Amino acid sequence: MHFPRSEKLIAHVDMNSYFASVEQQANPTLRGKPLGVCAYLHPHGCVIAASVEAKKLGIKVGMSMTEARQAVPNAVFVQNDPPKYRAVTSRIFSILHELTDRMEHYSIDEAFLDLTGWYRDAAEAAFALSTVKRRITEEVGDWLRCSVGIAPTRFLAKTASDLQKPDGLTIITHENIDDVLSRLDLEDVCGIGPRMRRRLERLGYHTLLDVKYASTENLIRAFGVNGFYLQARLQGADIEDVAADGEMTEAPPKSVGHSYCVPDRVNREKKVEATLMRLTERAGRRMRGLGLLANGISVSVGLKTPDGPRPQGPFWTPGSDGPGGSLHAWFAEPCDDSFTIVGTALDLLRELWSGQRVNFLAVTLIDLTVPTYQGRFDLKVKGLREEMVPERRQAVSKAMDAVRDRYGLNALVLGKMLTLGDEAPDRIGFRKTEGVDVTLTS
Ligand SMILES: [Mg+2]
Repeated sequence: MHFPRSEKLIAHVDMNSYFASVEQQANPTLRGKPLGVCAYLHPHGCVIAASVEAKKLGIKVGMSMTEARQAVPNAVFVQNDPPKYRAVTSRIFSILHELTDRMEHYSIDEAFLDLTGWYRDAAEAAFALSTVKRRITEEVGDWLRCSVGIAPTRFLAKTASDLQKPDGLTIITHENIDDVLSRLDLEDVCGIGPRMRRRLERLGYHTLLDVKYASTENLIRAFGVNGFYLQARLQGADIEDVAADGEMTEAPPKSVGHSYCVPDRVNREKKVEATLMRLTERAGRRMRGLGLLANGISVSVGLKTPDGPRPQGPFWTPGSDGPGGSLHAWFAEPCDDSFTIVGTALDLLRELWSGQRVNFLAVTLIDLTVPTYQGRFDLKVKGLREEMVPERRQAVSKAMDAVRDRYGLNALVLGKMLTLGDEAPDRIGFRKTEGVDVTLTS
């Protein structure tokens, strides 16, 4: 039986030897050593995480401290410290959150990201995730490593992230999946244990590729509904959705947003406005991909405290170390064109910000609705917008998305996104906010 292929783009990010790596990050004298993190520092205490070095020497999760010490006499043990791990996780996840608005915090060291609509293809997503891997080492801790899997489904993304450890990045696509499955062991995927493996082998299926192309009736006869789903998953069918936090998976999203922890380079190069435009463009593109219109837009800015260093330590969160605020505005009518959206975002930014150093930017398109083609033509527009009646502006925005789909995100930028200098602040007629009701929310 042939199952329909998923056209989604899903990533799975799995931190490697997480608790042990965080301990080694916090205490440099533990780096490079075989380290076991134990539930209790007692001979019977269980090893709940082992460093990469400890795993290589044979320490396994679940051993008692005594057993681990017998296996590796020079191993070091520490007691687990959940608040420390949670604090580091929140910093890692806030970086991941910049990639998509649909992310599932699966466990303390794992997340699934639905990147559909945000990136053109797996290669573009892989580039973004390789940047994330670098940012985790630069901004959270240089000893932290993760393995990333990118695939059309959740199941295959998880399978992919397990293939290269530590510090891997593996892509499974509909094109290479048969090659990948032919090289995997039956037990390399979730859902097949030693018992099922023996039964599969008895039926003559020795690789995952055999199972993918097996007779569905035989699999159902042997394993019931589990056999059916296993085959569907191996064929890349879209079975499990990413359960984005705080969102029902079936309903269309109520908002689409994008946020960014702004590196200081952006302030030095005077690219705050350009960065906001980029974030807004990406959110608009995602919304158009979903076929929705926004009734309003919200912009948040975190400002750096003047000259003060950023407070360090595990409890730092974006925007928490200085003033800043949020503003939102409602459009005259539901809208999805870049010109209005980006223009309004810039207007809100200028209300919130007058050239200070910025450390956090967020844009959210709010109160999303399904289009109804009524009353779209009586909008009064001035300047640039005069020639660009709504359906024109919408058509231009769609054309821009199409160009970016083909040539990449940077192929087409709105004037100011290219460079932003004081010398040409007024070159684009984005500045006016007729018909926009600006409301202070904070
Ligand atoms: Mg892990």
